[in-house]
Amino acid sequence: MRRKLVVGNWKMHGSLASNGELLAGVRAAEPFVCEAAVCVPFPYLSTCVLVLQGSHIALGAQDCSAHEQGAFTGEVSAAMLADVGCRYVIVGHSERRAYHAESDQLVADKAKLVVGKGLVPIVCVGETLAEREAGQTEAVVKRQLSAVIHTLGHCVPQAVIAYEPVWAIGTGRTATPEQAQEVHAVLRAQLHAATEHAGAMKILYGGSVKADNAATLFAQPDIDGGLIGGASLKAADFVAICRAAL
Ligand code: PEP
Repeated sequence: MRRKLVVGNWKMHGSLASNGELLAGVRAAEPFVCEAAVCVPFPYLSTCVLVLQGSHIALGAQDCSAHEQGAFTGEVSAAMLADVGCRYVIVGHSERRAYHAESDQLVADKAKLVVGKGLVPIVCVGETLAEREAGQTEAVVKRQLSAVIHTLGHCVPQAVIAYEPVWAIGTGRTATPEQAQEVHAVLRAQLHAATEHAGAMKILYGGSVKADNAATLFAQPDIDGGLIGGASLKAADFVAICRAAL
C-alpha cells in the first residue's frame, strides 16, 4: 500500500509575507492522511523551514544545479538544499525543459546529485500536445524515464516520478483519470522492469489538478498523489486536494 503524496509547486509566485501566510494556512489544517510537501522559491526556503517546525509537511525546491559545487554563478546545489532542510527537489519540470533547454540526461544527472545528498528527486516526465496528437506519448515518457533509470541505477526506487502532460499544465485542461492512469501504468511497468521495488514507488499526476477533480484522479490504481501548481497557491484549495488524497 503506497501512501499518497501531494506536493505544491509554488513556481515563481508570492512574497515573503504572502508565502508565509499561505504556508501557515496549510499548516493550520494538519494533519492529513496523505504525505504533503511544498516546493517553494529558493529565497523563501529558510523562512519556510521555520514555519514548518513541528509540522509533517515537508519542504522542497523546484530545481537544482547539475553540478556539485563551484564557479556556477546563480546556481543552487543539491547539498545547499539539503543543508537548509529540504526533503524534495523537483527536477525536469516541463518549464525547465522548455525554457532552459534541459535534456533528459541533464535531468537525470540532477536527480542523481539529489539522491546523493539524501534527498528525494521528483522527476517530471510528460508529452506535449503535438506529441500526444502524433501518438508519441508512450515513447516520450519512456525515453524520459529511461534516462533516469539508467543514471540512477540501483537508486531509482529513491525517486518519485511525476507524470505531467505539458498540455495540461496551467491550462485548466486536465487529463481524464483514464488518460492519466494509462500513462502511469506504462511508467509503472517500465519501473518494474528496472527494479523489484517498483510497486513501492510513487508516481504523481500533475496538470490542472483542482479540489473538484483530485479525488477521481487519485482513485486510479497507479496514481499516488499529485504535483499541484496553480491550486497550491491558495491554502484552502491545496488543503482540499490533500484531503482528497486518501
Ligand atoms: C505544475 O506546474 O507542476 C502544475 C501541475 O501546474 P498546474 O497545477 O497549475 O497545472
